[in-house]
Amino acid sequence: MRLVLLGPPGAGKGTQAELLSDKLGVPHISTGNLFRANIDQQTPLGREAQKYLDAGNLVPSDVTNRMVESRIAEPDAANGFVLDGYPRTVDQAEALEKMLKESSRELDAVVSIVVPEDVVVARMLGRGRADDNEGVIRNRLRVYREETEPLLDHYDGTVVAVDGVGEVDEVNERILRALGR
Ligand code: ADP
Repeated sequence: MRLVLLGPPGAGKGTQAELLSDKLGVPHISTGNLFRANIDQQTPLGREAQKYLDAGNLVPSDVTNRMVESRIAEPDAANGFVLDGYPRTVDQAEALEKMLKESSRELDAVVSIVVPEDVVVARMLGRGRADDNEGVIRNRLRVYREETEPLLDHYDGTVVAVDGVGEVDEVNERILRALGR
């Protein structure tokens, strides 16, 4: 199963991706986690990405696309993956399609986790990650609206919307049901 999770920052993509990864037996691939691991280890990629994460801006797509391309080529992703935080722009979606096509693969499903903006702001303020302060959150939401929301139209006809308000397990059940599992 090759699955993409869409949704605003704070929608619970990471939490749900982790659960889905266990249940579906495919790796959880989070571009945010990959960037943060590179930042922690002070790799060249991490040093390049840090200023964008700190400001709540998108890391340039060429950097992000290359990172994802090498990650999904790893053996554990041969039978699928849950992508969390990628694609985040229409050009990234096109790059992903191209990468998959080159190995005769395609996406099986795109799930949009729907959560109102006031709820995601409250969740992020409670979470307290380095980029979870109010100014940066506001910018990430703006970037989401401008750059990522157009993906819902891009995936029109494929994307299934799932209500992301509720208990973690409840939301997970909704996603599995939407996937026909
Ligand atoms: P959230 O969904 O809560 O914003 P993430 O962990 O997915 O958190 O992303 C954190 C940051 O990592 C983003 O604000 C951005 O700077 C960077 N990032 C993650 N995914 C991408 C991507 N696909 N393209 C560009 N930048 C990304």
